[in-house]
Amino acid sequence: MLDNYRDDTGNPSIFKSVVEAEKIIKNKYQDKEYSYFSGMEDYNSLAVKLLLGDDSVFICQKRTATVQAVGGSGALYVSGKFMAQFFPGNTCIYLPQPTWANHEAIFKFVGLEVAWYRYCDPKVSKLDFEGLMDDINKIPEKSIAFFQGCAHNPTGVDPSQEQWCEISQLVKKRQLFPVFDVAYQGFASGDFYNDAFSFRTFLQDGHKVAILQSYSKSMGLYGERTGSCTFIADCKSEADTILTQMEEIIRKTYSSPPIHGSRIVVEILADENLKYMWFQEVKMMSERLKAMRNALKENLEKAGSKHNWDHIVHQIGMFCLSKLTPKQVKKLTDDYHIYLPADGRISVAGLTTKNVQYVANAIHEVTK
Ligand code: PMP
Repeated sequence: MLDNYRDDTGNPSIFKSVVEAEKIIKNKYQDKEYSYFSGMEDYNSLAVKLLLGDDSVFICQKRTATVQAVGGSGALYVSGKFMAQFFPGNTCIYLPQPTWANHEAIFKFVGLEVAWYRYCDPKVSKLDFEGLMDDINKIPEKSIAFFQGCAHNPTGVDPSQEQWCEISQLVKKRQLFPVFDVAYQGFASGDFYNDAFSFRTFLQDGHKVAILQSYSKSMGLYGERTGSCTFIADCKSEADTILTQMEEIIRKTYSSPPIHGSRIVVEILADENLKYMWFQEVKMMSERLKAMRNALKENLEKAGSKHNWDHIVHQIGMFCLSKLTPKQVKKLTDDYHIYLPADGRISVAGLTTKNVQYVANAIHEVTK
């Protein structure tokens, strides 16, 4: 099963809002010029507004330092490199266990130390909130704490709003610097505002944070490599300094980001009609994912499975940690040609109304 979003025909459809934006771009621009090191200015300002809200006090007070990034991975790289060089505390970043594999790889590569806090036990497929709080409480003060803003990959398990509030207080008590990876805004609840709850709560609680954004999934711009990296500073002059340092990193790494994806994002976010169209499309995707989760559980029960599959519908977003063992996963692949990683992570977007019964029957057979 694939990692990217697929529609109910199993194909990687292009968003209608993106098609419309590309028509505008074709007439509007007759150049392939370089962008600034930090990317297009309009892009950066619209990208940060989507994260923080149009009337955010941090934007009004010019306390945001945003650069366009080469996808979410590029944002991880730039933020990591910046923190490895300039973070004044302990340059160890604490990641949820488990998390997307590239988090550890990128942060180690840029020179940060990596450690872990408990997040979700794959055998139970539930947030280990006690373990998480216990581990975060033991992180040395002035270290970096890393979170996924919503629709956690690979578990599909997010803290509740009340739990985010408690985590924010604890992170404050420990004087940690929180970094949020936001690769799936809109996918969890179908609503961009709701899906910003985690990092907006931390900001309200007075944290300075970093927010790393990707449009790969939320606008289907995978190959356009479109993301952003924002640090919130104490004041404008600190934000300006951070921006200069990030520009320096970009200059020495790839000089400047690509322009096509950011032009698409600007056309969509700056136009109320296109933006509305895009929000509706993301909502539809989020609803399709929920419908596929329900269909998988229902079909497993119909096939006669006696296991409890509630976690499939309790988890959210694109991924589902199924609780299948590596042996069961291998059997699914060998006998049924269903492909998923050994940790049992199902990409829910790979399910369609046509294949969900086949997948459910196969899972039932290997878990008997
Ligand atoms: N963070 C998470 C949690 C992801 O799942 C991904 C992509 N799979 C990324 C970051 C990287 O995003 P991009 O594909 O835009 O580099």
